[in-house]
Amino acid sequence: MLIQAPERVIYAPQSEKAEDFISHEAILDTLEYADRLKDERAAVDDILAKAREAKGLSHREASVLLACDDPEKVQEIFDLAFDIKQQFYGNRIVLFAPLYLSNYCINGCLYCPYHRGSDIARKKLTQEEIRAETIALQDMGHKRLAVEAGEDSVNNPIEYILESLDTIYSVKHKNGAIRRVNVNIAATTVENYRRLRDAGIGTYILFQETYDKAGYEHLHPTGPKHDYAYHTEAMDRAMQGGIDDVGLGVLFGLEQYRYEFAGLLMHAEHLEAAFGVGPHTISLPRVKPAHGVDPGSFDGGISDELFAKLAACIRIAVPYTGMIISTREGKSVREKLLRLGVSQISGASRTSVGGYVESPEAGPEEDTRQFEVSDTRTLDEVIRWLIDLNYVPSFCTACYRAGRTGDRFMELCKSKQILNCCHPNALMTLKEYLMDYAGPETYRAGEKLIEKELETIPKDKIRDLVRTNLANIQNGQRDFRL
Ligand code: SAM
Repeated sequence: MLIQAPERVIYAPQSEKAEDFISHEAILDTLEYADRLKDERAAVDDILAKAREAKGLSHREASVLLACDDPEKVQEIFDLAFDIKQQFYGNRIVLFAPLYLSNYCINGCLYCPYHRGSDIARKKLTQEEIRAETIALQDMGHKRLAVEAGEDSVNNPIEYILESLDTIYSVKHKNGAIRRVNVNIAATTVENYRRLRDAGIGTYILFQETYDKAGYEHLHPTGPKHDYAYHTEAMDRAMQGGIDDVGLGVLFGLEQYRYEFAGLLMHAEHLEAAFGVGPHTISLPRVKPAHGVDPGSFDGGISDELFAKLAACIRIAVPYTGMIISTREGKSVREKLLRLGVSQISGASRTSVGGYVESPEAGPEEDTRQFEVSDTRTLDEVIRWLIDLNYVPSFCTACYRAGRTGDRFMELCKSKQILNCCHPNALMTLKEYLMDYAGPETYRAGEKLIEKELETIPKDKIRDLVRTNLANIQNGQRDFRL
């Protein structure tokens, strides 16, 4: 796809340059185009018809849907987002938790309490403390983590991150194990991405924060993160370093959401055009109150309703990409977004450094916390809630461990084989959770759900195999996967 302006190319998704693949002119043109078409019923219907094929939409088409405010059409968008999610992801919801290693940071991000000039208490976990945090997370039932750290090449060099990954993967406590560690650290070099890949990371996650270059430079006045092009081209370097699962995200609430939406989809189009595979995940964080940070001081605040519409339009535009919502959002927003396309959520998160281990010497959790979480429930409460809503909580990490990453995962997703593969894996990992960590009520509700969901596995042979594996898990064996 190449959109020609009268005199010069304004959008070049294959280009290696940030300003070509996230083209400011093309975004402005897209917003104008969306405003022109949003009230033309025939045009909106055409886009919805294309969206129903579940092969995705371009940033321009999806921007028209996002701009459309005809209540009947908005309801169609919501219904379609639900259908597409069911087709590709079914009713599984993957669980994870963040693990904050260090809040030392030399950047000046205006929305983040870890910025260089902040008077927040600084803390960096030792390897012994990381072991203790990992055990605390395993004792809740977590199998999948997202490692988080500020940017500071002296206090948090890549060697520290690599050593920490080793520590996390090495902890074997009771029946616990962390089987996949995603990493959310600052933009780095191809060589460092290669080292992260070699350390066995799952997804490399980096939020763009904002795609609006002028806004970006204002919000990141100092530090290495100030460099818009270096940050925006990070996923290209990650891919060149051999990481083929990358996770995009915008920090919604900073700048205008329609601009961000078009930029985010352009980024996805760029990865597809340049590397043949789109983003593995898209995260939907909204800026939250934090030490010295008032979300009201930024321009882009959006209501819960708009946030839901945004999620639905992303689901429709990129049907095969996982969508993540964290505990930044409370129960009711999370519940709404689960229906509209979210496939992964965090549970029982602490956003402070060392927050999972209560130590008598440590200060209160707020001391090192990155932002306020809205969903403060325990993991068991979150699991029970998902089961009651008829979702299958999943701790599955099978694709990553079987090497089904990048385009191989996308092929599985596109082939809609989830009912024969991901769904059974989800049921087996849920069974492990029930056996090892669940409270009595969650256990009973989970057992019932597994019995019911077993019947939805289409292939007899696979259903029988899963039954056998579930019995083996009941008898003490662990870690089955298809
Ligand atoms: N330091 C890394 C970087 O530079 O990208 C990433 C780690 S940071 C711990 C993870 C994310 O937290 C950031 O990318 C940002 O989007 C988000 N964040 C920072 N301040 C926040 C706030 N006040 N509310 C919500 N999310 C916030």
